[in-house]
Amino acid sequence: HNHIDHATPEKVQAAISAQDTHAHIPEYQVFDAYCADGGYQTLADIRATGEFDAIQQTLLDSGLRGLGGAGFPSGRKWGFVRAAEGPRYLAVNGDEGEPGTFKDRFYLERQPHVFLEGMLIAAWAVEAETCFIYMRDEYPAVLEILRREIKALEDAKIVAPGYIDLRRGAGAYICGEESAMIESIEGKRGLPRHRPPFVAQVGIFNRPTLVNNVETLYWVTKILREGGEVLSGVEKNGRKGLRSYSVSGRVKNPGVHLLPAGSTITDIIAASGGMLDGHAFKAYQPGGPSSGLLPASMNDIPLDFDTLQPHGTFIGSAAVVVLSDQDSARQAALNMLRFFEDESCGQCTPCRVGCEKAVKLMQADKWDQPLLEELCTAMGDASICGLGQAAPNPIRLTMKHFPDEV
Ligand code: SF4
Repeated sequence: HNHIDHATPEKVQAAISAQDTHAHIPEYQVFDAYCADGGYQTLADIRATGEFDAIQQTLLDSGLRGLGGAGFPSGRKWGFVRAAEGPRYLAVNGDEGEPGTFKDRFYLERQPHVFLEGMLIAAWAVEAETCFIYMRDEYPAVLEILRREIKALEDAKIVAPGYIDLRRGAGAYICGEESAMIESIEGKRGLPRHRPPFVAQVGIFNRPTLVNNVETLYWVTKILREGGEVLSGVEKNGRKGLRSYSVSGRVKNPGVHLLPAGSTITDIIAASGGMLDGHAFKAYQPGGPSSGLLPASMNDIPLDFDTLQPHGTFIGSAAVVVLSDQDSARQAALNMLRFFEDESCGQCTPCRVGCEKAVKLMQADKWDQPLLEELCTAMGDASICGLGQAAPNPIRLTMKHFPDEV
């Protein structure tokens, strides 16, 4: 609670920075160490002699898809943005607000330059005028690391001062939705936009904008440095690639576990040291609250993009939460809807009013299932963005798989 007289932007920023540096800064690979390890050589080579088509093909062959949750093939997205008339921008989505997701933080607090190099390669690919990094303010250590390391990049003349514009999100979940994030970067309230037009054509200040997630850019560097086989060479259960699962809940070793993309919940629990003593596996959230809950009996599904759609859900950002026999699926679903009720931006009625009604209906001793189903249909069909469209998932999946509880 610093008292600030005549708060100029500089004074506010200084006060904020002073607070942020109280954050515990973990040990991470600093600029010099990264360069000594061959860092930024890939970027230098690409800037000197790189050909977009060949690099795009390498990304496509690797199978890299957007790891913020949507899973759109990264090489194709780069192509769309590059084909649009400039000037163009790059925006990195570091909002990572999906409860249970902490993989971006994991990589940023260890190897920030792997991400930064990938970002600058992406900026080269779409010839971006500016790179905006939209980073959630709940990650003070990450913000401090990025401030220091962006300065190192400027001092080394790898980027011009100001080319990388670090922006702080203010804690709204909806600002992780890409068009709301763009509104926020423009200095407005974070309200999702209608689509089309897509942000690849009409993004920041109406210019074509490439939006990539932090982890996606981390893999860009890995692929272009080590070859696309780092992803495409891994195969399990008919799925290719790797997935950084953020695992939490009733397991012995929660954390980020990098596993084959075809891993099942059984594999993920095993990689997390097994269930906590005294807890029996009951249910799991495969990819954030928007993905709802699946029962322990569905333990043989590879948790990857596309594989969960037939079951009425999706992998999203791979935020896996493991519940045990000591947890209530019904209470967990209610908690998810309360979260959506809080975080709905309020712009459209099906979501703003729908989440509120759903919470009320889910508090009844016995759920009015036909009415809830009707509400889910209205929300799914008529909401503007993914928040309202996916909010029915926890309701529907709980009614389907945990009928005794509702
Ligand atoms: Fe806002 Fe919800 Fe509508 Fe999305 S669905 S625009 S969060 S009110």
